[in-house]
Amino acid sequence: MNFTKGNMGWIEVVCGPMFSGKSEELIRRLRRAEIARQRVQVFKPCVDRRYSEDQIISHSDFKIASMGAKDAAEMETLIDPRTEVVGVDEAQFMGEGMVDLAVRLADMGKRVILAGLDTDYLGRPFHPMPELLAVADEIQKTLAICMQCGNPAKHTQRLVQSNELVVVGAAGMYEARCRRCFEPNLDNLQKQKDSAAAAMGRGAIKQ
Ligand code: ADP
Ligand code: ZN
Repeated sequence: MNFTKGNMGWIEVVCGPMFSGKSEELIRRLRRAEIARQRVQVFKPCVDRRYSEDQIISHSDFKIASMGAKDAAEMETLIDPRTEVVGVDEAQFMGEGMVDLAVRLADMGKRVILAGLDTDYLGRPFHPMPELLAVADEIQKTLAICMQCGNPAKHTQRLVQSNELVVVGAAGMYEARCRRCFEPNLDNLQKQKDSAAAAMGRGAIKQ
């Protein structure tokens, strides 16, 4: 897509849960920019060491070369002034500084494409994605397929118990869930199951 005249920059955000095709969509847009012979730079936060240090790889095995940066400030030091298109995957991990950097890059005339999780494992807005959505010129929300019932899924269900916001992983640790099947309080549910099992155990001893 190129809806501007001259060298005006803009910001695109692709957001949704895990497995919804955000990386695929980001890679598709960046590939098209490369085909158009634009200078492209792609970044991902160092926190995501899921598959590769120097590539973005989607769950469907689409790939594009990328550079790692620990946050937006480090990313800025790596941007070549001649770059025309800046792609960022897992933008929710780039820190608060990502919003200001995205705006400044767009103001310089660059096209900025950011992909990231809009909500966390409890269904809460995942900062700074809400702020990035607010400053964006164009937004796409992607949906996955609920692994329980097959409906469109907007949530990322954590399958392992942890109260940490960031637990990096993919298949086996997270799955996509629809609004109905999403169980944000997995820890509470597990505690309830544990205490129910313990109570049954005590009952069995009494008999
Ligand atoms: P994201 O970046 O949003 O985590 P990816 O672009 O890496 O997503 O992967 C999307 C691909 O994941 C889909 O094209 C499909 O092949 C695969 N996939 C695996 N599980 C699901 C699911 N529950 N819903 C949709 N796609 C899924
Ligand atoms: Zn469901």
